[in-house]
Amino acid sequence: MSIESTNPATGETVETYEEDSSADRDEALERAEAVFDEWREVPIEDRQEMLARAGEQLRENESTYAELMTEEMGKPIAQSHAEVEKCAWLCDYYAEHAAEHLQDDRIASESDARTLVSYEPIGTVLAIMPWNFPFWQAFRFAVPNLAAGNVGILKHASNVPGCARAIEEVFREAGCPEGAFTSLLIGSEEIDEVIADDRIEAVTLTGSSGAGRSVAETAGSELKKTVLELGGSDPFVVLDDADLELAVEKGTQARLINSGQSCIAAKRFIVVEDVYDEFLEAFVERMDEQVVGDPTDEDTDVGPQAREDLMETLDEQVQETVEQGAECHVGGEPMDREGAFYPPTVLTDIPEGSPADREELFGPAASVFRVPDEEAAIEKANDTQFGLGASVWTEDYARGERVARRFESGMAFVNELVKSDPRLPFGGVKASGYGRELAEQGIREFVNEKTIWVQ
Ligand code: NAP
Repeated sequence: MSIESTNPATGETVETYEEDSSADRDEALERAEAVFDEWREVPIEDRQEMLARAGEQLRENESTYAELMTEEMGKPIAQSHAEVEKCAWLCDYYAEHAAEHLQDDRIASESDARTLVSYEPIGTVLAIMPWNFPFWQAFRFAVPNLAAGNVGILKHASNVPGCARAIEEVFREAGCPEGAFTSLLIGSEEIDEVIADDRIEAVTLTGSSGAGRSVAETAGSELKKTVLELGGSDPFVVLDDADLELAVEKGTQARLINSGQSCIAAKRFIVVEDVYDEFLEAFVERMDEQVVGDPTDEDTDVGPQAREDLMETLDEQVQETVEQGAECHVGGEPMDREGAFYPPTVLTDIPEGSPADREELFGPAASVFRVPDEEAAIEKANDTQFGLGASVWTEDYARGERVARRFESGMAFVNELVKSDPRLPFGGVKASGYGRELAEQGIREFVNEKTIWVQ
């Protein structure tokens, strides 16, 4: 069996890879288990040094890795460069802070015993990752786990096998011992077997809520811990005292980042009546101005969708919403050109229960809702199965923080678009998943929080 990567801007095959066999899989799990016993004993300072070298490797080869991402999944090249740089920053962050995040917590007890919690690695963690940030998502898993003394097996999305191999190379070149980080080129139908394997201790998945449910079910039946980073339909709430120019600029960016294919993209724009017309007019204009085209061009804002079928799904959601009564102000159908190109699209008057109201639109289509006031805006923001990120736009910071605290989401931003940052925990609630990545919380997800009592 083979796995093919296809350039979504041209439809051409980039490369064909041999799928890993069950014997390859078995060998990788065996090696991981064996190397874990050594890796966990390596002083954390040395593991941190390996990560610092991984950061250097990324910086030295930034163009190669950026071009690979753009070729395999169509990310505009300037954003691909930014993604490689961000991964290097992540390496630097844990190279500097891992030991501090994992140091023992001394707990004062009333007796004269010495009591503490230590954070110990657990073994091989399986990561199932999506294609949309093909480097970032995988590094976000691998870096803290390798720092903590765990070892990793990556099952990357089937449309980015070249990225999966390249990530393996980064760690190998950085001096990570053989087997401590392995990419398996396998399809998702083989995942249940890997999850159930005794040599896998825990699983993390970033992807759709459907994949999350399936992985959680299998892992749950095996009593294995999971972290799930799933879909989102983030609200972007514009209040009457917002800086509208800023909201339009950031809202456009927040919807179109990665050609609209981001879990934390702003998807539902909820605007209070007083500023609705003004916001909508400027937002439609700004969305329409974006440069859609060749992702290898530095000036491109929006590239192709990562796969033809993903673009078709997005188009079906838009068409159905319009058929149910929504108005489309700009975009609204695939572009008449080669490649999986979908233009920035703005929908309003969205009927309750329609796809744009209820589902995640994983592409450059914004849904704009009119609400009477702040209270109704909060209610609409929370009226979703998802709970990943949320943002509110207001010149009154205290009001912004008050609203932010009422969002049912894992992350809430005031006057800033929702973004990930190595220093801050990242994750969702509700159907957006559970568990956290990044920061201290992320590195502590897959460790044994061991209570030690010394009398
Ligand atoms: P996806 O179809 O769920 O795929 C993600 C990964 O899961 C891929 O490696 C895929 O493998 C695998 N997979 C798919 N179905 C599976 C199953 N039943 N059992 C086990 N593994 C399975 O998601 P996607 O379309 O690539 O990515 C977009 C979704 O990811 C969106 O919903 C987005 O919001 C979400 N996402 C969330 C975050 C976050 O941090 N919360 C970040 C990025 C994306 P194959 O490719 O081989 O099918």
